[in-house]
Amino acid sequence: MMSTPLRIAGLLEHDAKWHADTEIVSRLPEGGLHRYTYAAAHQRARQLANALHRLGIQMGDRIGTLAWNTYRHFELYYGISGMGAVCHTINPRLFIEQLIYIINHAEDRLLFFDLTFLPLVEKLAPHCPKVEKWILMAGPEHLPAESTLPGLGSYEALLAAEAADYEWPTFDENTASSLCYTSGTTDEPKGVLYSHRSTLLHSYAASLPDCFNCGARDVILPVVPMFHVNAWGIPYLAPLNGCKLVLPGPALDAASLYELFESERVTFSAGVPTIWFGLLQFMRQGPRKFSTLRKMIVGGASCPPALLRAFDEELGIEIRHAWGMSETSPLGTVSTLKGKHLDLPADAQFFLKIKQGRVIFGVDMEIVDEAGQPLPHDGVAFGDLLVRGPFIASDYFGTTQPSQLTASGWFKTGDVATIDPDGFMNITDRSKDVIKSGGEWISSIDLENLAIAHPAVAEAAVIGVPHPKWSERPLLVVVRKPDHDVTAAELLAFLDGKIAPWWKPDAVEFVAQLPHTATGKLLKTQLRKDFSGYELNT
Ligand code: ADP
Repeated sequence: MMSTPLRIAGLLEHDAKWHADTEIVSRLPEGGLHRYTYAAAHQRARQLANALHRLGIQMGDRIGTLAWNTYRHFELYYGISGMGAVCHTINPRLFIEQLIYIINHAEDRLLFFDLTFLPLVEKLAPHCPKVEKWILMAGPEHLPAESTLPGLGSYEALLAAEAADYEWPTFDENTASSLCYTSGTTDEPKGVLYSHRSTLLHSYAASLPDCFNCGARDVILPVVPMFHVNAWGIPYLAPLNGCKLVLPGPALDAASLYELFESERVTFSAGVPTIWFGLLQFMRQGPRKFSTLRKMIVGGASCPPALLRAFDEELGIEIRHAWGMSETSPLGTVSTLKGKHLDLPADAQFFLKIKQGRVIFGVDMEIVDEAGQPLPHDGVAFGDLLVRGPFIASDYFGTTQPSQLTASGWFKTGDVATIDPDGFMNITDRSKDVIKSGGEWISSIDLENLAIAHPAVAEAAVIGVPHPKWSERPLLVVVRKPDHDVTAAELLAFLDGKIAPWWKPDAVEFVAQLPHTATGKLLKTQLRKDFSGYELNT
């Protein structure tokens, strides 16, 4: 067989040849919709590669992006990785100290940013001395009249000066292609460096029928940002399958998304639960229906059962619950039924669909106890979740710390899970969030999912608070829906019969809002700080 290396630029080359007229549609930060084809994207990605060479960018150099999902960001994915440099997507929602840390740690040489982020980059630039040029992803007419940004230039002007006659170089498929820092739910952000090989293998795996199952008839709109683990691989798997790509830019509110779903005939989408709750409310207000949308991936955080049920029963949309992390590229498992489950009653099917699901080929997983001993796959025993495979990180970028892998080469996910006899994995908690009560573990996620099903609850979080006898007991923290009322006693009564009596939270507190990470996940480290010193009535 030919030993053709797997390269990211090969995806766009393929589309320019075989899906030349398939569209990429983007909503732009500077306003308006932009529409062009894969052939045009290929041409501009090559112009960009020429520009990067002219700016002295070498193989392995890191180039930062602070940008929404748009065609220009898509071109950067391909132009940067394609010429052998590393596309470092940065999450603009992080705190400014984290952004400075990340840009300096990655040693980004250039930084491309959307117009929205001009005020932000003006604050960052004085603290990021290694960035040689700050390039605004817009035409020169949008450049500010005055600015202190070093080497400030316009993306469109940069491309206009270049020809599109560029041959993508061939190199070892293990060459680094892109870099993402984890959102830091638990620690300082850590860099995960992907390779051309890992990205391509992940794209094949993510395209499989039991994963995203998409093809050249699909229209994909990734709500998940391109700065959040490469939009879960969609900017790569869309060209791999010749799908039309719809990029929503900064407009992530329900009305703007719905407009694009309908006008561009989107069939498939992906995002975190918070986004879909907003959309659900908007759909109910109409009431509205989707004409073409059939399926969506929910991941990044546990999919609340109420969300899956509402989309399925009220809107006829298949939700696929997926689990992953930056370190797994990110797809690890997706919950789809096997043939033998199709005759099960609806409730039994639902019970499987709401789990985090089965591994896709390329990922292997195990659960182990505190001593590292394997636990049975009986759907009951829960322990630390380990994964390994060709698109799982073996280490963090630029770290001096010892490897995170176990002696037998497994990556410790930091999640706690069960695995059932059919291979369905179910996250019961993050290892740092699980509540350890009298030597037994209580799943904070299970309690949260039950609480959120109460009609007066907008959001719920459960944390462990110190207890003299049991070492920790659960505290339920709740945000009520506007114009709804519920007491602590009513909420606790609502949980009765749904959980083992000793799982029942010892107290309920009501708050106006809960702290979230930059990617919209509950920030339990902050919540634990907010409630440090909390005293239970013992
Ligand atoms: P961070 O680890 O900094 O939060 P990631 O974006 O990589 O950054 O998040 C990965 C984590 O998100 C997983 O380890 C897991 O705890 C959580 N997660 C992702 N998907 C799911 C899911 N479907 N259900 C429950 N937790 C999830």
